[in-house]
Amino acid sequence: MRARIKPYRMTVMLALLCSCHEKPIVIPETDGGYAFKKVSEIYEIGPRASGSEGARKTAEFIGNEIRKYGLTPEIDEWVEKTPSGNGTVFRNVTVVIPGKKKEFMIIGSHYDTKKIETVPEFSGANDSASSSGLLLSLIKTVKTNPEPPPLTLKFAFFDGEECVYQYNDGDGLFGSRRMAGKLKESGEDSNCRAMIALDMVGDKNLNISIHSDSDPVLADRIMKMAGERNLGKYFTKSAASIIDDHTPFHKLGIPSVDIIDFEYGENNMFWHTKADTIDKISPDSLKKVGDIVMTLIYNRK
Ligand SMILES: [Zn+2]
Repeated sequence: MRARIKPYRMTVMLALLCSCHEKPIVIPETDGGYAFKKVSEIYEIGPRASGSEGARKTAEFIGNEIRKYGLTPEIDEWVEKTPSGNGTVFRNVTVVIPGKKKEFMIIGSHYDTKKIETVPEFSGANDSASSSGLLLSLIKTVKTNPEPPPLTLKFAFFDGEECVYQYNDGDGLFGSRRMAGKLKESGEDSNCRAMIALDMVGDKNLNISIHSDSDPVLADRIMKMAGERNLGKYFTKSAASIIDDHTPFHKLGIPSVDIIDFEYGENNMFWHTKADTIDKISPDSLKKVGDIVMTLIYNRK
């Protein structure tokens, strides 16, 4: 990320009873240590601006990890002209885990890094290795869980979230706009029940904001689940809206939410700077966010 638009926030008790006569829903737990390992591996690839060798290597790394979990990734590669005037190669990496229903939810993260001329080594530990590493760990956990998820899950690693100059219909969100456009074109959007975007989710000092452009039902469920898991202080609602990878799906009318901590250091001072380094990231924060996503996946009440 990304642009915030003014005006202006579970010990994992892993079994939730849906009613006294139903089997308890067992919600698998996020492995924060494993997620952190994946975050570190992506961070160590180095700068991953769209069209760079680092971006190509990261897409390849993500694809290879997904194969290790016994799943088949799909890599959508295309060339698109950006406001810089150049045709840029973009790659979205997606993978599907079938659920009990064909209706699906999308869980996404961007993996590209902002191209910052003054910080050529920028490798974005929080923006965007944190959410991408967490997403890999969630895929592994869901795949190894004996119970299939209620809805089919489409995990998406987006390229090109970062804008070249300024967010508009032709700059930024290249990967998520591409996926949303394809969903609409195929008519599949009518089967999409939710889109959850993850971004900047690894800060040791975790302050997740659920912005005003989020789907109100999803926003309320996140707040309720966070409260039930004793994580209430890490999640707040914000009156501001935000442009991020949920936006193209939100525009299609799909219930969407961006789970983002846009308070990275005091006054967001580490964001898009050389201070966005791996020492600021904690396995515990990744686990807190991962566990909330798991409740959204498995507890469909
Ligand atoms: Zn960013």
